[in-house]
Amino acid sequence: MSVGVDLDEVLVPYLSLFCPFYNETYHPERPFTPEDFFSYRYADVLGISPDECREVVRVFERDSARFREQRPLPGAVEGVKALARSHRLYVITSRTREIEVSTRALLERYFGGLFEDVFFTDQHTGDASRAKLKSSICRQLGCSVFIDDSPYHCADVAQSCGDTRVILFGSYPWNWHARPCHESWSSWRNMPDFD
Ligand SMILES: [Mg+2]
Repeated sequence: MSVGVDLDEVLVPYLSLFCPFYNETYHPERPFTPEDFFSYRYADVLGISPDECREVVRVFERDSARFREQRPLPGAVEGVKALARSHRLYVITSRTREIEVSTRALLERYFGGLFEDVFFTDQHTGDASRAKLKSSICRQLGCSVFIDDSPYHCADVAQSCGDTRVILFGSYPWNWHARPCHESWSSWRNMPDFD
């Protein structure tokens, strides 16, 4: 079967690298940690405008050495290898195509040959005409399973792709409230049954 897998916070960490970068670069009055992110809408948590937030994220992803420190989450490589033995795996990420080259390089470096392809939804460019929903990609690929840490993307796929098994990944401050709404999976150390 086909399985759609999110990238940030599912295969690799993001906020644990973004927060030190933000604190060092912008010197907020109070340093932020991932535990502060009650929502994955960064602008709401950081108290800045959506435009300012897009620029901060762009600088982080384009220029920061910390972004290049992304390494697989514990157990992710082993878990993906196990899944890839019997299923077709696709990365479905809301990253923009502006970082397509570095994203493909990251996947090749740590998950080389394990994913069929990677799809970018371009949801954070500020240009809504470019953005795709993850549900449209799931439908296009015929995904039987969709794995994501975001309640927003899980709800989108659950509502639009009735036959897709939606799994909310990780025990994070931004998704704890949605865990009762979906099948949840806390870490790669305890994989659910996919057969
Ligand atoms: Mg994610």
